[in-house]
Parts: sequence; structure tokens; C-alpha cells
Amino acid sequence: MVNQGLNGQKNAKLVLNKHKYEPVTARLVDSLCQIAGAANVLTEPERIEPYTHDEVVGLRARPEVVVLARSADHVSRVLRLAQRERVPVTPRGAGMGLSGGAVPVHAGIVLSLEKMSRILELDRENLMITVEPGVITGDIHRAVEAEGLFYPPDPANLDSCTIGGNIAEGAGGPRAVKYGVTKDYVCGLDAVLPSGEIIHCGGKLVKNVTGYDLVQLLIGSEGTLAVVTRIILRLLPLPKVRVDLLVPYDEFQAAAATVSDIIAHRVLPATIEFMERDSMLAVERLLEREVPFSEAEAHLLIQLDGSSQAAVDEDLNLVGDLCLERGAQDVLVARDQRTRDRLWEARRLIIDALNNESPVNHMEDVVVPRAAIPALLKGIKETAARHAVRIVSFGHAGDGNVHLNVLKDSMDDAQWEVVTQLVTEEIYRLTLSLGGMITGEHGIGVTRRRYLPMALEEEQIRLMRQIKAIFDPNELLNPGKIFP
Ligand SMILES: Cc1cc2nc3c(=O)[nH]c(=O)nc-3n(C[C@H](O)[C@H](O)[C@H](O)COP(=O)(O)OP(=O)(O)OC[C@H]3O[C@@H](n4cnc5c(N)ncnc54)[C@H](O)[C@@H]3O)c2cc1C
Repeated sequence: MVNQGLNGQKNAKLVLNKHKYEPVTARLVDSLCQIAGAANVLTEPERIEPYTHDEVVGLRARPEVVVLARSADHVSRVLRLAQRERVPVTPRGAGMGLSGGAVPVHAGIVLSLEKMSRILELDRENLMITVEPGVITGDIHRAVEAEGLFYPPDPANLDSCTIGGNIAEGAGGPRAVKYGVTKDYVCGLDAVLPSGEIIHCGGKLVKNVTGYDLVQLLIGSEGTLAVVTRIILRLLPLPKVRVDLLVPYDEFQAAAATVSDIIAHRVLPATIEFMERDSMLAVERLLEREVPFSEAEAHLLIQLDGSSQAAVDEDLNLVGDLCLERGAQDVLVARDQRTRDRLWEARRLIIDALNNESPVNHMEDVVVPRAAIPALLKGIKETAARHAVRIVSFGHAGDGNVHLNVLKDSMDDAQWEVVTQLVTEEIYRLTLSLGGMITGEHGIGVTRRRYLPMALEEEQIRLMRQIKAIFDPNELLNPGKIFP
């Protein structure tokens, strides 16, 4: 993603004028207090500061006011008011996004859903859970797993992001290889339109073809079409047996080739994560202690699961053999939670570790057909060498989704600006030539919008703009996102 260097209020105001949005007045703040209660309306600079950014390095913009909604009715009334006063509204979950989606680039109101954080119902008969949008995703996991049930989507930061944010971003996670992503589990949504009207889409239904599928339209719409206020998710029985493997390799390409081998042998692991040496060493430096096989050129982190020990063991033996045939140094197996946590610790800390390593960095999230992973990883290495820059790749190799961090290290600012743009464009061209797309799960947001025309036909972008205009004719809901 490209750091836009937006510098708070000053830049936001410039854009504001262009779109003729109105500023937030004292009268509007009073009205917001009447709607949500004064304690849930923030105007003091120090209380607003956390809402000026998400997890994109260097991207900041200051809202004029933050409202902490506590109900769909609050959301509806805030949106009606914003409509009347022509003030932009940016919905926000936990602010963990990696494309600037929750950053209020046109200032106005940040509408935080963090306090709508109740699990409303766990329906054991229908295997469905109903939640508010501000529930932390990891809390859904724990609530259903306590009942022997399973909500598979597992963004790597599941203990810090919200389910509303996951829906708006169409989030994925390591288990997408076998279980798919957020959109595969959402059966119903309540959402508030920019006009303030509340719609109820879908329900506790496994099947439903009644009209256009607005549930799926809202998923991945990055908070630009409506604000989600209630969510119905379908659940699966919790797999009875799980085993995790950490597999270190001397050669980067051998690890990448193993991913294709495993899939070609008709084994579908729950996860196949890929990490290269630089990411493990960065985690080691962050933790200030050793992580297993940190000197290996690359690692695969594989999880196998199933309903019986025999079936999982059969897959385990086959996968272990395939890894060793490709020259793996070893296959470390974790069967209990403590060892599993140890194997996964490094993977979950990579983004933090790379930020620690080079506070200025640039992250991409490209996705290709999984058989193209070796070609993609080879191309990324060549790009890094061509531009003499450190690029660290890791991510969800099993579903073709590779994250790569370009590290600024000690490069001077002017060169960094040029290099990040050239590297981004080269990697996007490579990805598209391999039949891929420029983002697999982090979204377009602010940081990728200028590249949308590289990836989509003009006609597709035109249709998307028309959809946006139908929902939000005055462009008040999360303006400045997705479209170039
Ligand atoms: C360390 C780290 C690891 C990550 N790993 C993954 C991963 O494995 N997979 C993955 O997919 N992502 C990952 N992410 C990205 C991030 O966690 C996801 O994008 C997540 O979905 C963001 O949720 P949030 O609650 O923080 O949303 P925010 O950042 O607050 O918002 C994201 C977008 O959703 C909109 N939004 C939020 N709530 C609503 C709502 N109720 N209605 C309408 N729009 C709304 C916002 O306007 C914004 O456009 C990672 C991020 C970090 C920092």
C-alpha cells in the first residue's frame, strides 16, 4: 500500500472544499449528543487522536467529531442528521484495517461501532450466531468453540479486529484454504443506508435466492454503501482433531513448490502459511529470544484437521513425506495447544515485527491462482534485487494470497517515494499477468484506489460507481475510498 502522507486536518479540509461538504458545527455536535448521549460524542483532540488512523503506516486524517453508536437507532439518526447537514461519515470498527478504510480523509464524523459489541444469540438448533458489529472476532471463536462449534474465518489479528470490519473488508485468514472467507459464513445482515433507513437482508437461512443478494453486495463494500448493525453467521461443527506442522526449508522455491504438491495430492489442509527467513529473524529480534529454525530460508506452517484421528494421521503422513521429498530440513508436529501456540507465535507477530524493524514500510496483499505462487515469489525476489530494496514475503500461500512488506530501512525519503511506486506497479503487473488481483483481503481503501484501473475494466468501475450512487447519491458515506 502506498502511504499517502495525508497530514490531518489541513489536507482533509482541502479535499473537503472540493466536495462541498459542510463542517461540523457546535449545533451539530449538540444534536449528536442528544442522539447518542454526551459521553459517546468525542470532540477533544486527545480523545479523537486514536480515530485519526488505522494500521496503515503514515496515513492520518482528523475527524471533527467521533460518535460511539450503541444501537442501530443511533446509527440511523446520525446518518439522517449527516444527510441533512451534508457532513461525511466514516464507519469504524477497531481501526485495524490495512488500507485506510476507517481513516476519515474528508474529516466530518467518525461513526464507531466498537460499543455495539454484544453476542445476541447462539442458536444451537440452526447452527447460527447473531452478533453486533463491534464484537471482536476472537470472542466469536471462543463463544462458539465452548459449545463444540466452529466459526472458521480467522484474520491473523482476530483478537483485535471486529466482525463488522471483517464484513466490510471481506476479510480472510489462514484457514481460507479449506474453509473460505468471511463472505462464506454471512447469512443475514441488518444495515443502515446513508439515508438512515434500516434494511434487514437474508436471515438464518442456508439458502436464499429472493432477489439480488444484498448481503453479498455489502460484504467487502468497505463501509461505502451502508453501516452494518447486526450480523447472522453460520457455524460448523468444531473439527475433532487438529495437528500443526512447522516445516523449515533451505530453499525458498522448494517451500513454494511444496504448496502445489500438497494440493495436487488432493489434500486440503486448513492452512498453508508461508514465511521467509527475514520475517522469522524480525520476529526473533522483536521477541528478543530464539524462534524455531529461524535461520531456515523459508517455512511452511500447515494445519490439518478432520473428524477422526485416522483420517488426519493419513494426511499428516502424506504431507510430511511431500515436504521431505522437496528437501525440508525437518517436520515439527504440534498436537497440543501449547506447542501449537508456539509454532504460530512467529506467524502472528510478523506485521508487528516488520514495523519494529523498519517503522516506515509499505505492505501489499496480492493474490494469484495458488499454482502461480512459485512464479509470484520468484518475481518478487527479482523486483527486490532490481531496486536494491528489502522485500519480505509471507502469508496465505495455500490460497494464493501473499503479503509482502517493502522495508525503507535507511533509504532516503526521495528515493523511497520513487522505489515504492515502481515496486508496487511492477508487482501488480506481475500479479495481473499471472491471473491474479491486487488485493486478496485488505481491500482497496485509500491506499490502492489509484491502482483500481490497472486491475478492473473501465465498465466494471463504471457499474461500481453507479451502485455507489444508488446507495449514497450525496457521497456522504466513507467518501474517498475505493474509487480512483
Ligand atoms: C497484524 C494484522 C494482521 C492482519 N491479518 C489479517 C488477515 O489475516 N486477514 C485479513 O483479512 N485481514 C487482516 N488484517 C486486516 C484487518 O484486521 C482487517 O481488515 C479487519 O477486517 C479490520 O477490522 P476492524 O474492525 O479493525 O475494521 P476498521 O479498520 O475499523 O474498518 C475497516 C473498514 O470497515 C468499515 N467498517 C467497519 N465497521 C463497519 C460496519 N459495522 N459497517 C460498515 N462498515 C464498517 C470501515 O469504514 C473501513 O472501511 C490484519 C491487520 C493487522 C494489523
